[in-house]
Amino acid sequence: MFGKIHEIYSSISGEGISQGVPTVFVRFAGCSLRCGKTESKSLWCDTPYALGPNQGETKTVSNIMDEIETLDKNHGYQILLTGGEPLEGKNRDLSITIAQTIFSYRTKHGKPYPTSRVETNGSEKITLDPFFIFTMDYKLPGSGMENRMDSENFQILEKRHNSLDEIKFVVRDRIDFERSIEVIREQKIQTNILYSPVHGEVDAKELVEWIKIDNPPKCRLSLQIHKVLWGNQKGV
Ligand code: SF4
Repeated sequence: MFGKIHEIYSSISGEGISQGVPTVFVRFAGCSLRCGKTESKSLWCDTPYALGPNQGETKTVSNIMDEIETLDKNHGYQILLTGGEPLEGKNRDLSITIAQTIFSYRTKHGKPYPTSRVETNGSEKITLDPFFIFTMDYKLPGSGMENRMDSENFQILEKRHNSLDEIKFVVRDRIDFERSIEVIREQKIQTNILYSPVHGEVDAKELVEWIKIDNPPKCRLSLQIHKVLWGNQKGV
């Protein structure tokens, strides 16, 4: 089995409930969404270089596992499958195989972080598999991608009942924030909730004020710590 991988590197997790945790990133190539792009506004994707399915390098599972092991000799880092979109098309089977392999090894040898975290865009079906934890986006109206969201994912998250899962809302404006509150209420969301502002479009301090007023359950502001530390550099 093989797939297109854009990059594999180690750093710290930049956002969410695992922020700051040493992490190996496996970035898949290919995503069919185009977040934020409208007639008058531009794409806000952090990884435009990884959107094409043919970008990146062809790697087998064993190439990928070798690279992860080189970066994390003691099998102690969190593993983050990201993109692009790690559950789209052929990436999906590869993500499952990588996560299963890591889960078996780490549970057998008592290593930390047996479950691989998957950053997924909300358009692909998530799973009940115990070897995954999910950071699932719900794309709000400002992204132009809300009609691509798979709302069954909310029921799957509820069935998973995993305290490490999280839902991320990226907020472009007040309309987005209000829509997020509606979604949380309609779907009775119990999972951890992350709010991130679109850089340069919403002031994070203003978003904090909105969060304080509505205070949805289990929510937090999530700013990308790697951008604070390294700006827009790749592979850090
Ligand atoms: S889903 Fe993620 S990778 Fe795809 S366009 Fe949106 S931000 Fe970029």
